[in-house]
Amino acid sequence: MAGIPCPSCKQPLGLTLEFIMKHPKMQCPHCNTIMNFEVSEEIKLKMEKGLREIEQIKKKYSKIAKFT
Ligand SMILES: [Zn+2]
Repeated sequence: MAGIPCPSCKQPLGLTLEFIMKHPKMQCPHCNTIMNFEVSEEIKLKMEKGLREIEQIKKKYSKIAKFT
């Protein structure tokens, strides 16, 4: 999964959605901007569902790969 850049200085932070969900508030190491990625419970649930679907797709493809 691609990292998310700093919204202030656009430097790549290498953060994943999973990391942001666990650490919604952090400081940019490049420009020291405090970022707040806190989101509503509804959005969190949607992101978790999305991550689970990605895992399921990966499993599906790994099964297909065994037959080739
Ligand atoms: Zn920054």
